[in-house]
Amino acid sequence: MKNIRVRFAPSPTGFLHVGNARTALFNWLFARQQKGTFVLRIEDTDIERSALEYEEKLKEDLLWLGLDWDEGPDAGGAFGPYRQSLRLDIYKDYTHKLLDSGKAYRCFCTTEDLETERKEAQAKSGVAIYSGKCANISATEALQRIQDGEKASVRLRTPGRGALAFPDLVRGELKFDLSLIGDPIIVRSTGHPAYNFAVVVDDSLMEITHVIRGEDHISNTPRQILVYQALSLVPPHFAHLSMVMGRDGTRLSKRHGATAVDQFQKDGVLSPALFNYLALLGWAPPEDQEVLSPEEMIGLFDLKKVSRSAAIFDYDKLYWINRQHTKTLSVRQMAEMAFPHMKSAELLPDIMTEAHWDWLEKVMEVFIERVDRFADFPLQVDSLFRYSPVEMDEETKKEMEGDCASRVVSLFGQKIANIEHFDYAQFVTITQEIKQDTGCKGKDLYHPLRIALTTRSSGLDLDKFIPLVEEGARLDLPRSLKNCCQRIYEMLGYLQQRGSIQNEETES
Ligand code: GLU
Repeated sequence: MKNIRVRFAPSPTGFLHVGNARTALFNWLFARQQKGTFVLRIEDTDIERSALEYEEKLKEDLLWLGLDWDEGPDAGGAFGPYRQSLRLDIYKDYTHKLLDSGKAYRCFCTTEDLETERKEAQAKSGVAIYSGKCANISATEALQRIQDGEKASVRLRTPGRGALAFPDLVRGELKFDLSLIGDPIIVRSTGHPAYNFAVVVDDSLMEITHVIRGEDHISNTPRQILVYQALSLVPPHFAHLSMVMGRDGTRLSKRHGATAVDQFQKDGVLSPALFNYLALLGWAPPEDQEVLSPEEMIGLFDLKKVSRSAAIFDYDKLYWINRQHTKTLSVRQMAEMAFPHMKSAELLPDIMTEAHWDWLEKVMEVFIERVDRFADFPLQVDSLFRYSPVEMDEETKKEMEGDCASRVVSLFGQKIANIEHFDYAQFVTITQEIKQDTGCKGKDLYHPLRIALTTRSSGLDLDKFIPLVEEGARLDLPRSLKNCCQRIYEMLGYLQQRGSIQNEETES
């Protein structure tokens, strides 16, 4: 069988968003599965909007996602150059071929002419199709006008009637009415090739066998097939992927949340998780397997099973998949992922000692179940740092007014004051003693203590909370973390101020 060759052909005019990344990923999966070739081609003929920094960032984002290319800028290959701005001479040759054979012609209409024509046509028939006004200018006259300094674009001569159909690997046969397709511009008056022309020349010369791209290009495909026909070239197979939509059914945009691959990376989504989720946008692996590695997906991917219905980008599902992939990391790896986020929230120092890492690993073990992505850690961990009895909500404040509450917390204060390295075992012992001494038990005993230590009536279990704050308090951190003893005394001070406790009760 012929070697399968696919390509991802981004225009470097912005960041790689998830829709394009999904297109790249389906091409990559198909290539890897078929033991074919994945080509990266940079379509930078729109010189005003293209920028080298976008190209660099696109490549970085693709590699971060795990999508490597066999041929392309940097990687090289036998079909280069792989950047359209370096292929202008090639397009010129093909333009001449089409002009010489009469399959294309020069058009001298100015933008203003075309605008007037478009408005008139729209008013008359509701559709704006180029009239073919310049189609009959002879080659000799055209050449003369060019020599006289007139600017001209080049248009492909199309039949203007009949139908054109092609089989789409995702959507079945697609049929177009050629009377609705005017002669498309293939070379602009600036000399730059139009997308529909350059893409055909490149796909053909690069021996691309399958063009897999977004369905926003469906209307371009008949125009491209007409170029193939005019050049007597065989078109590749086409597969148009459905659009990626938000949950409200409109095209995914920033309004829905993050859309740039770069943003997901910054938010601390793991690349295999984003890879996994993007692959599920329009493709369902057999037996409802959802959490898969790239290698597993290569084995299972089937272009024929790609759905034609719109793919809905569900952030919750992505985060669920992210959590599943996160579970496969070691705690140290988790800590390394969380570190930059904690550092920029000024919860960790720039230079970490082994003791800092140990503590961070414990933080991971406790909080990992509570976060969607690593960027969420600072907000969660902030609950360890925040300690302000005055800011407690009214209900919690009320809970501290009971008779047991004041006695339990005061006694706890007396007992903890003599302990150097407080830990959870000591908490259990002290609590038992307080139970004996005060007769307070159950909720009356534990609730005031939980509130005194955390300022909240619910949250982390104290067997997890106590070691985290005790160890954290011993570390040199940008923002200090209060240990249990400090917390209890701060709470007692607050309660005294409110008049919930008499002064002498706290004196040990
Ligand atoms: N440069 C085009 C784009 O980014 C490529 C479309 C295609 O794959 O043919 O949309």
